Amino acid sequence: MATCAHLDTIRIIDVPSRIAGCEECLKIGGEWVHLRMCTGCGTIGCCDSSPHRHATAHFQETGHPVLRSAEKGERWLWCFIDEVRFEVAQAK
Ligand SMILES: [Zn+2]
Ligand SMILES: [Zn+2]
Ligand SMILES: [Zn+2]
Repeated sequence: MATCAHLDTIRIIDVPSRIAGCEECLKIGGEWVHLRMCTGCGTIGCCDSSPHRHATAHFQETGHPVLRSAEKGERWLWCFIDEVRFEVAQAK
C-alpha cells in the first residue's frame, strides 16, 4: 500500500469551526462544490469538481503537498505528490 512521505509538512490538521468558503472563489465571486483545507498553511480551497479547482492550484503555487477534506464528517487527507488518500488518525 502506498504511503505519504510528507506527514512532516502537516502544520494544521483541524478544520476551523466556521469556514466562509473557498478563499479564492470568495475574492472572484466564484462557486465551489466541495471544500478542502491545506494542512501546510490552513488555506481553504475548492475541490477538483469545482470550476476553479483552487485546492489543486494552491498546491501548484505553493508546493504544500497534503490537503484534507474540509467537509463535515470527512476525515481523509490527500497527498498530491504521492497521490495517496489516508485518514487523519494515521497522520497524528
Ligand atoms: Zn506525500
Ligand atoms: Zn475556489
Ligand atoms: Zn498551503
